[in-house]
Amino acid sequence: MPPAPLPLLLCPVCRNPLAAAETGGVPSLACGLGHRYDAARQGYFNLLTGSGTKFQADTAQMVQARADFLAAGHYLPMAQELAGLVAASAPAARTLLDAGAGTGYYLQAVTEKLPGAAAVALDISKFALRRAAGRCPRPPAWYGTYGGPAAGRCIGGRGAERFCSPQRC
Ligand SMILES: [Zn+2]
Repeated sequence: MPPAPLPLLLCPVCRNPLAAAETGGVPSLACGLGHRYDAARQGYFNLLTGSGTKFQADTAQMVQARADFLAAGHYLPMAQELAGLVAASAPAARTLLDAGAGTGYYLQAVTEKLPGAAAVALDISKFALRRAAGRCPRPPAWYGTYGGPAAGRCIGGRGAERFCSPQRC
């Protein structure tokens, strides 16, 4: 089981590193200054703060339509090709980051090729992240956050952080 990629995650308020915690049986992320983010019931984390994002997140209907389309296998060859390319180009990758991960369809394909890598999935749609979190048979293996802060040293600029699976799906 790959290690949790928590050092990649920053608190959206103070930008200090987040660490895994648990409060009353609820997984959470917390920084050293006490900002805490509880996991949603579906297993993702919301790191949006304040007024959130100006971007329009995919709605439940949009995500459902995408999930239905992907489940029909139309893009399966593309997912398999993508996973093969990623695995070939970074065979020793320890962490995978999918910014704009949607339902986690492609990230899941990549993690199947790189079972030793932890995965972080980011999206601004909580509906998409719920789907992605559901792809993992061992919740809370997938953690998600939508929106969120710039993601540490992995991605510059906007990004977010996490929709992540500290364990492999
Ligand atoms: Zn903080």
